Amino acid sequence: MLVRIKAETIRRNPRAGETEYGVLGLLEQHIVRITKVPGGYRKEEFISVGTTQPQLVAVQEAVNFDGTEAECPANWKSSIINRQPVNWLQSFWPDPEYLFEHEDPVFNCSACGCELVVSQLESDCLDVLDGNLVGTNTKCPHCHAWDAVKLEFETIEQAMARENNK
Ligand SMILES: [Zn+2]
Repeated sequence: MLVRIKAETIRRNPRAGETEYGVLGLLEQHIVRITKVPGGYRKEEFISVGTTQPQLVAVQEAVNFDGTEAECPANWKSSIINRQPVNWLQSFWPDPEYLFEHEDPVFNCSACGCELVVSQLESDCLDVLDGNLVGTNTKCPHCHAWDAVKLEFETIEQAMARENNK
């Protein structure tokens, strides 16, 4: 059975040909906390990554030991700075030229005869190669027979030829 591409879902991929993907990394927080201590002020800096507990990475104190109070240095301020780094990943295949979706046709299982749609099939090798679905090793969700139907997925080239011949 040929599973056709829905013509109305064919669209040009804005990322066509690209091989680099920016993936947002874990949220990093740089926290500065200023507290009052006897004789002056303490500055603590913490770093947390993702959901980890903030780790204390630096401590500074501005303290007088002669019984007077030190001023808080003018450049010390409590703050939280959020940073989410972008990691650049390289993909093996360039991004396909077109994006599209396949239809989900109804058929009968060749083993038990039940009515199914393609998306109900269980499969361990439904795979995408070069923007096209490949792999037809499918299993009926009711009787668990392998190859309940022979599937052939229309390629984008076939779908576009079909559309151009209309
Ligand atoms: Zn079946």
